[in-house]
Amino acid sequence: MKILFIQLLLIFCFTMETMANSIIFTKEEKEFIKTSPIVKVAMMPDFTPFTYYIKDTPVGFEHDLLKIISKRTGLEFKKTIDKWTTIYNAFKNKEVDVITSISYKKFREPFTSFTSSYYDIPIMIFVKDDFGEYNGIKSLRNKRVGVLKDVFYIKELEKLDTMDLVFYDNYADLTKDLVFGKIDALIQNLTNINYLIKKNVYTNLKLASELILPNTTKEDLRFGVQPENPVLSSILQKALNTITTKEKEALVNKWIGSIKEYRGGHIELKQDEIAYLDTNVIKYCINPNGLPFEGLNEKGNHIGMSADYYNLFEKILSAKFELVKTKSWSESVSYIQQKKCDMLALGMETPERKKYLNFTSHYLEVPLVVATKVSVPFINQILDLEGEKIGIIKGDAFVKILRQKYPSLDIIEVNDIYDGLDKVKDGQLFAFIDTLASVGYEFQTKYFGELKIAGKISESLKLSIAVVKEDKTLLNILQKTVNNITNELHREILNKWVPIKYQKGIDYELVWKIAIGAVLLILLIMYWNTEIIKANKLLKQAQKDIEEKNKELEKLAITDKLTDLYNRRKLEELIQNEIHRCERFGRSFGLAIIDIDHFKKVNDTYGHQIGDKVLIEIANILKSYLRRTDFVGRFGGEEFIIICPESDIQGVTNLMENFRSRIANHNFAEIRNKTASFGVTVLKEGDTMDSLIKRADSALYEAKNNGRNKVSVSI
Ligand code: GH3
Ligand code: MG
Ligand code: MG
Repeated sequence: MKILFIQLLLIFCFTMETMANSIIFTKEEKEFIKTSPIVKVAMMPDFTPFTYYIKDTPVGFEHDLLKIISKRTGLEFKKTIDKWTTIYNAFKNKEVDVITSISYKKFREPFTSFTSSYYDIPIMIFVKDDFGEYNGIKSLRNKRVGVLKDVFYIKELEKLDTMDLVFYDNYADLTKDLVFGKIDALIQNLTNINYLIKKNVYTNLKLASELILPNTTKEDLRFGVQPENPVLSSILQKALNTITTKEKEALVNKWIGSIKEYRGGHIELKQDEIAYLDTNVIKYCINPNGLPFEGLNEKGNHIGMSADYYNLFEKILSAKFELVKTKSWSESVSYIQQKKCDMLALGMETPERKKYLNFTSHYLEVPLVVATKVSVPFINQILDLEGEKIGIIKGDAFVKILRQKYPSLDIIEVNDIYDGLDKVKDGQLFAFIDTLASVGYEFQTKYFGELKIAGKISESLKLSIAVVKEDKTLLNILQKTVNNITNELHREILNKWVPIKYQKGIDYELVWKIAIGAVLLILLIMYWNTEIIKANKLLKQAQKDIEEKNKELEKLAITDKLTDLYNRRKLEELIQNEIHRCERFGRSFGLAIIDIDHFKKVNDTYGHQIGDKVLIEIANILKSYLRRTDFVGRFGGEEFIIICPESDIQGVTNLMENFRSRIANHNFAEIRNKTASFGVTVLKEGDTMDSLIKRADSALYEAKNNGRNKVSVSI
């Protein structure tokens, strides 16, 4: 009777629900659903949180939405998942029926029929925790506000003209700069920042308000349907119309509202997984001496971080976990090998253990520190410990890893943390390595004033749940659970246990302060180091830039703009240098002055610009056939000088004769033929630059007088 009643109730509820969401389809639509229920949908793989992947499963707002639509219409969606350009082209080429996440744009109308928008992405203003009171956009007056370069609302923002906009190429840098206080606020779309906050566990940002600007609409997400398929369009639109505000809210909360971070959210267990939890009590082992990670209190109850996690797991899964007590970590390890328990609450994945255990992804990562006597200087890196005796807890996965990675270390296994710290205290060990949390925890009870945290090592401890190899179902359930723990919950648990609350007594507090101070100092030094490296890089780049600029300037200072030959200044410098060199070594060099014949005519007949072109052409001839050791420059107007070091008069004359005939035979672009005259000389004892040039000039005069297109010599 009772069962019948429940069945009736269920049927009633079911009908109520379908009625509320039932859609009245036209005959055509019904026919469509009946004859072609399979709809090809193209979606993106990385449009978090609308459509993306967790492990290998496509998930997100849109997938859930399609699920609802499928249920209500009877359509079946066959998904193609690829990057935007690919699916957009596929849609344009009519290879798929529907595309998701498409925004309305007028130019898309010819090839897209748009449904209404199922989500409008809001644009948000974020500030840092310590921003102070935020009273609307006026609070951003004269503040540094980061925005993405070229984002579509930039113009409207600039119109406001109240804030000091800082532009970024990408969202990641923009967000990071706010986290580290380089800007006072940022503007970006909600889904993006949500994703970044979640991914990077940023904790110090605060949502100020939504940005509402005139003439700016939010980015709208719609389904795009092939325009040739109006029936499909109207089916999808009708289905969208049935999505209630409540349903939409639920979708938004599940996928987008993680700024608030929903608690114990959407864990989807399969039938066999639910059955497993219904029928099994999960037995687990812990390290009984591993506080603050895990341990037993006086009453023998499981306490510590893993205890908090397990309470959470129980809540999320509505399942029961049962602690199998052991006396030590090694006993726990042997228990799981003998299958006296199904899992270890916190274990580090090692190749050795992977032989008999499976691991979830890690859900806790903690830095490792080095504890020494107070008198020991800071330890920068693990190799500073070379040659010293270092204690690590026996059976700790780290022993093997460190031994393999740093064979030169003298690692001594100790029974537990007390054994380790005691041995450091009485000098049997130089240092003891363990997590900051555990060492710090013990510092507050013992070892006051005698030991300190001397440094941090680069390796960290990554902890997962370890499950016996055979039990795949349990592993899958736990993996889903671990995925489901929000950052806020992680933070809550971490904050509760690390740093451990002070017990009474000012001295312990002091020890803590010193310990934390030391770690902060190390972090600060590390930070400085990276900053200095960064600054150095910048400096080097700046130096390079300056050098390049100087080179450019230098080149400009010695170059003739029109012909790109040396200018007069440089020619004079070169001649002076040659004179000095020759005086010193008793050598000589040749010099020639070249003057274009009847150049004025060129200008007069063809104009100055053509004249310039002829100058350039002649310069190019001189450049191309110059010997490597010679120099050529424009001395002025249409006169050039060639310097030929280590050449005698015959050599220079031959060279110039060569140039003369090349010019005379050259086919100039506009004017066809042009000749030039050459005056040649060599340096004589007692010559100055003036006397040398004058002599070459008089040779040139002679060449002109002798009918031009000649090489004349004067010695
Ligand atoms: P000559 O055979 O006697 O050398 O006759 P010329 O016409 O070449 O006479 P001269 O050397 O005295 O005249 C040089 C002319 O070259 C004067 C000027 O109009 C022209 N000139 C000088 N510098 C430039 C320049 O940079 N561009 C152009 N287009 N013409 C120049
Ligand atoms: Mg001249
Ligand atoms: Mg001339």
